[in-house]
Amino acid sequence: MTDRSAALRARFTELFGHAPQGVWSAPGRVNLIGEHTDYNDGFVFPFAIDRRTVGALALREDRRIRLASSFTDHIVETSIADLGPGAEHGWQNYPLGVAWALGLLGADLDAVPGFDLFLDSDVPVGAGLSSSAAIESAVAVALNDVWRLDLDRKTLVKAGHLAENEVVGAPTGILDQSASLLGQADAGIFIDCRSLETDVIPLGFDEAGLEVLVMDTKVHHEHATGGYAARRASCEAGAKALGVESLREVSVADLPKARDVLDGETFRRVRHVVTENQRVLDTVRTLREQGPRAIGDLMDASHRSLRDDFEVSVPQLDLAVEISQNYGAIGARMTGGGFGGSAIALVPHELVSQVEAAVDAAFAEHGYAQPDLFGVVPSAGASRDE
Ligand code: ADP
Ligand code: MG
Repeated sequence: MTDRSAALRARFTELFGHAPQGVWSAPGRVNLIGEHTDYNDGFVFPFAIDRRTVGALALREDRRIRLASSFTDHIVETSIADLGPGAEHGWQNYPLGVAWALGLLGADLDAVPGFDLFLDSDVPVGAGLSSSAAIESAVAVALNDVWRLDLDRKTLVKAGHLAENEVVGAPTGILDQSASLLGQADAGIFIDCRSLETDVIPLGFDEAGLEVLVMDTKVHHEHATGGYAARRASCEAGAKALGVESLREVSVADLPKARDVLDGETFRRVRHVVTENQRVLDTVRTLREQGPRAIGDLMDASHRSLRDDFEVSVPQLDLAVEISQNYGAIGARMTGGGFGGSAIALVPHELVSQVEAAVDAAFAEHGYAQPDLFGVVPSAGASRDE
């Protein structure tokens, strides 16, 4: 047992008065490339990271649910009968939403027992690394086991996605849960969001002498409101005006024609999605044919497109990207939905400390809060740990 899970078990026992029956965990993720393409039926290419949400859980003999997290000492109680959209909870909506969604996907919510759950996490919250999918995926694998549902990983992806859309109320796509549930060590998960087909693609960063540096700007984003929903609406309007079901059906060669049909802003939103889909395909091909040192230009182009066409970057992300590029990164881009959160840079090992120092100095010079800089390693997806 690791120190972390021993502490988790001890805290669970202290809070609930009995021992947990198991420990499950699921990682956050970094999206290597393919941003705002998932809800357009397009392509994404994330990997699971070595930061995880860990959950200790025990079934109960009654129908009650008790939830606690290292975020707060407060235990929230509810019951299986009260699951569903519209409940007034905070972070509890993530685990409760997953329990409810499993009911739509095979669990008999009239029959399953309640549970006690305690969560701990080292995935930074709101940093664009999807602490939300980590919590959803950890709960999904745990309930799948203890409720003996035998659902496959792709169904658990749906459970997390439904929870986030319907119960939390954040209109996000399937990218995050797919990475968290399907991730593998030293590999990225290429996802076709239309067919839901996935492909595990070896990344080989370490072997190529490269590290992925996360640069958390500490600028806070809020997915459930504002900009994210507005971007989705623009994409839907663009698809409608172009007479297609989703922007997935538009290719780079179609863009000149699209320019004639769409207003300027909608065209730029569409151009981002269409070119980003192509960049994801190009990244996978380039990795296979030339290796990770060749994908930098695609990352750089993705950032420019998100900044100029999709307009979801912020000055702190632009600065982190620009400085890391100037000081030795092979490629860099904002990652996640934007409006804050993190950027990533692919950096040769020997240049990491130089890049970190330069980014820190540039943030100080601009009067920005100090960013949090740390390396991440492509890691395994959700698992039962004990
Ligand atoms: P991101 O997924 O980018 O980190 P979100 O806003 O989508 O940001 O999700 C963050 C939310 O997830 C938090 O505000 C909290 O409600 C919930 N959350 C994440 N991890 C935990 C945890 N360990 N315990 C309780 N809530 C958590
Ligand atoms: Mg999230």
